Amino acid sequence: MMTNRSVGTCGLAERIALQYSIPIPLIDIIKEEEIELVCDDYGKGTFDGLTIYERNNDCFYIHLNRANGNRLDNTKGRFTLGHELGHYFINHHRIALINGLMQPHCHIYNPFGNNEAWIIEREADDFAASLLMPWFLLKQDLRKEKFNGTMIHNLSERYNVSFSAMAIRCLKCDYTPMMLVYAVDGMVKWQLHSKDFPFWQLKHGKAMIPENSVMGEYFNHGDDSDCWNDEIVFAGDCFYTFSQEQNNLKFYEYCIPYKNKAFSMFWQKD
Ligand SMILES: [Zn+2]
Repeated sequence: MMTNRSVGTCGLAERIALQYSIPIPLIDIIKEEEIELVCDDYGKGTFDGLTIYERNNDCFYIHLNRANGNRLDNTKGRFTLGHELGHYFINHHRIALINGLMQPHCHIYNPFGNNEAWIIEREADDFAASLLMPWFLLKQDLRKEKFNGTMIHNLSERYNVSFSAMAIRCLKCDYTPMMLVYAVDGMVKWQLHSKDFPFWQLKHGKAMIPENSVMGEYFNHGDDSDCWNDEIVFAGDCFYTFSQEQNNLKFYEYCIPYKNKAFSMFWQKD
């Protein structure tokens, strides 16, 4: 659920995005705002991005940490820059930065965070998502084709964002009923579903990835032959269902594996 505050945040980001074309040229925005951008190696696991206000010369600095895999033009670095621009553009973030009230922080996406620090972080994430994937443009692109994973993959390349960022954007904008699952070493790290998705959790909850899902095949057998594809799966194999009849409902799963991690998008077959 978006709060009024984050609706304002998203509106602000979309208004900025209106002035540019896709993929949103973040470096141009940073230059136009006369922000100093420093891309350097700040050590692994420290932070992705950092925004600092320097009182001496009345200047904002954005530091991008290459050591964590951020680059000026890769999807991770671009989301980090979008997030840092959120701290710069959102009024109460900027005021906190100028007054030294915002502590330097590392941001790791956590959809369940709810304390004040996380609210600030989520606002910056929402800003980044709205800036990089402005809904007024994205919804037009989505409507050109039937919804599927290949299309989301292609759109993520066009907008120069990650597949997961694009899928989360579609879910949060309630484009179509879907569930997203991110797992590490065969364990669910987080899971999101749109409010109109018929199921709330995976078959075994958070404990184990369902064996007969594409993700399950990947973790259990190292088999990625069905990954990167719109694969048909059955509700009874993947989700905690509420009736026998539901078990035969067909869904699609598009799974993206990477080493010991995997991300899957589920949506219903019509
Ligand atoms: Zn942040």
